[in-house]
Amino acid sequence: ETSQVVLDIADLHAWYGESKALHGMNFDIREGELVTLLGRNGAGKTTALRCIMGLVRKKTGVITYRGENVAKRAPEIIARRGIAYCPEERGIFSSLSVAENLELPPVIAKGGMTVDEILELFPNLKARWQSPGTKLSGGEQQMLAIGRILRTGAKLLIFDEPTEGLAPVIVKQIAVVLEKLKARGFTILLVEQNFRFASKLADRHFVVDHGKVVERFSRDELAGNEAKIQAYLGV
Ligand code: ATP
Repeated sequence: ETSQVVLDIADLHAWYGESKALHGMNFDIREGELVTLLGRNGAGKTTALRCIMGLVRKKTGVITYRGENVAKRAPEIIARRGIAYCPEERGIFSSLSVAENLELPPVIAKGGMTVDEILELFPNLKARWQSPGTKLSGGEQQMLAIGRILRTGAKLLIFDEPTEGLAPVIVKQIAVVLEKLKARGFTILLVEQNFRFASKLADRHFVVDHGKVVERFSRDELAGNEAKIQAYLGV
C-alpha cells in the first residue's frame, strides 16, 4: 500500500486498577482510510480509543501518530496534534443550544470547519438552532456531536458507536455523513457493533476480542468471513 500510516498502535496493554483490559493490541490506520474496530461489549474497543486520547494512564506500548509516540502525552496535547474523539455518550453540552454547542469548542488545529459548513452537512440542525441539547432527538444529538468535533480542525476522527440506539433512517444519514467526511480526506476510526453499517463504510476491519486484535479483514475479504465476524460480535 502506498498511503502513509497515520496512527500505529503497537503492543498496547492497559489496566483499570489491578484489572487488565488490553492485552497487547496492534493495529494501524493509513491516511484517508476508514477503519473499524469490531467486537462485543467488554472486548476493549473503548479502552483502546481512550488510550489513544491519553485518557487511560496505566498502559504500556507505543502509540505513534504521524511519527510521534504520543502514548505518554496528555489529552490536551493529543487533541492539539489533530485527533478528535466523539465518545459513546456523545459529549455535547445538553443545557446549551445547538448554536452554543457549535460556537463553543475551541478551534485547536488549523482548518476547522466553519459553522456554515457544518450546517451544510447537517441541515436538520439548522431548524434546531436555538434548541437546547436536551430537546434534541438521539440522531440530532449525534449529529451535533459530530459537528462539534469537526470544528476542532482535527484530521483523525474517532467515533465510538455513533449509531447506537438510533433508528435505521438516522443510521443511514450518519453513514452518508461519514462517507462525505472520508471523501474530504479525513481519516476515520470507528468503533461499531453494527456490522451491517460498518461493512458498507470501512476499508479495513479489526476484530477485537479479550483486549487484542484477533482478526483483520480488508473490504474485499469480508464476503467469506461474515459468519466468523458475527460470531465474534456474539450475534
Ligand atoms: P463496550 O462496547 O461495552 O464499551 P468495549 O469493547 O468498548 O465494550 P471496554 O469498555 O474497553 O470494552 O472494556 C474492556 C474491559 O475493561 C471490560 O472488561 C470492562 O469491564 C473493563 N472496564 C472498562 N471500563 C472500566 C473502568 N472504568 N473500570 C474498570 N474496568 C473497566
